[in-house]
Amino acid sequence: MLKIYNSLTRRKEDFVPLNANNVKMYACGITVSGNAHIGHLFQALVYDIIRKVLEKNGFKVTYARNYTDIDDKIIATANKLGVDSADYAKQMIAKIDNEMNYFQVDEPTLWLKATENIENIINFTQTLIEKGYAYPTSKGDVYYSVDKFAKYGCLSNRNLEDAKNGYRIDNDEEKQSPLDFALWKSAKPGEPYWLSPWGKGRPGWHIECSTMNMQAFGDQIDIHGGGRDLIFPHHENEIAQTEALTGKQFAKYWIHNGLIKVDGQKMSKSLGNSIILEDLMKKYHPEVVKFALLQNSYRSDLNLTEAVFAQAEKHIYSFHKTLLAVQEKFPITDEINGEYEKLVDEAMQDDFNSPKAFSYLFDIFKTMQKKLAENDKSVIADYNGVKKAYKILGLFVNDSKEVVAFVNNKEGDIPQEVKDLAQKRWQAKQNKDWATADALRSQLDALGYIVKDNKEGYDINKK
Ligand SMILES: [Zn+2]
Repeated sequence: MLKIYNSLTRRKEDFVPLNANNVKMYACGITVSGNAHIGHLFQALVYDIIRKVLEKNGFKVTYARNYTDIDDKIIATANKLGVDSADYAKQMIAKIDNEMNYFQVDEPTLWLKATENIENIINFTQTLIEKGYAYPTSKGDVYYSVDKFAKYGCLSNRNLEDAKNGYRIDNDEEKQSPLDFALWKSAKPGEPYWLSPWGKGRPGWHIECSTMNMQAFGDQIDIHGGGRDLIFPHHENEIAQTEALTGKQFAKYWIHNGLIKVDGQKMSKSLGNSIILEDLMKKYHPEVVKFALLQNSYRSDLNLTEAVFAQAEKHIYSFHKTLLAVQEKFPITDEINGEYEKLVDEAMQDDFNSPKAFSYLFDIFKTMQKKLAENDKSVIADYNGVKKAYKILGLFVNDSKEVVAFVNNKEGDIPQEVKDLAQKRWQAKQNKDWATADALRSQLDALGYIVKDNKEGYDINKK
């Protein structure tokens, strides 16, 4: 039985979907106001794996993620760059999609975007006004009235009065309570806007998720996920909006992943310490990054340092070297040791316990090395077994030669451009596209580099 820690009840529960075998899952996505960083990747990876575990349990999963493609920060960044905010958002989405693809995060079933749901957002807001849960102001803003929703604070376990004390400073005297939040924001001069019954404006952040959930899934969903930093106010507000509208429980299970720190500090623009994906791609193989990110429980915070990545790389490199040695020593048959998959699946059934699943790796590879040394052919069954078992965590899904070559070629001061060309050439060779491989070799030659193939992949040397 799959067990999930539910933030709403604050305990681990058996997972039972609302509707037979079908699972509706939504995870809050990225606000595309800048480059995606490792925190975004961690979150995307966590829900991708959760989806895969659910599917392995035989559930039919519809998994939706959103992009917030209109908000104050996006407008500010676009204005600074002198570009249209819609174009900027589109560009960033394409870039982030690419990066997620590089790190082998699968696409959700549904991609939802705020700007494609404006009419639905307006209708949702209008209904909340009609039901008495929201009110427009003379300036054309619409606020949700937190005092009208008795359950407010149920997810974050907050007392309404305490929460209000944290919100003393307010700039809109028409707000009835400091905790009231904007469903609709009137447009300031020069800002993008849509027409609404309250004038020109754009949606608030929280209403997007409630509306898109409703559009995609109806009144109720099984799982709602996001980073722990979203519990208050974002997820609390989503519950207030949706449940005020439907009178039903919105999400049965709330899942929250931990937060990422870098060298002991919160990632922030002002500290300039964010690990952005664009940089990470140049430094580490996707499997190394996945191993580094998933070695703790998804619920705990993770402190990333150079040493964490170096350690992860050391392990992944050594695992793949062993796999490569098996490939080179024996013809790979389809014999398989099914024990490893059982162990990994059992760990994942217990609230997606990836650190437990990883803990078996060291013994597995020790056994494999021993068998290799003893020329024991049964290592082929282990080779197949380990690859099948860890697929759900995104490990050993890449060719071992490629992973080993990636790590080897990181050493030294070879320019990225040269590494990329060498990698492309190697890929072309794998695809038996000799013409492209030769052309790339000439290109490298012209840049002053020679590529030599070896047992583990290839080496790049200066001429
Ligand atoms: Zn959300």
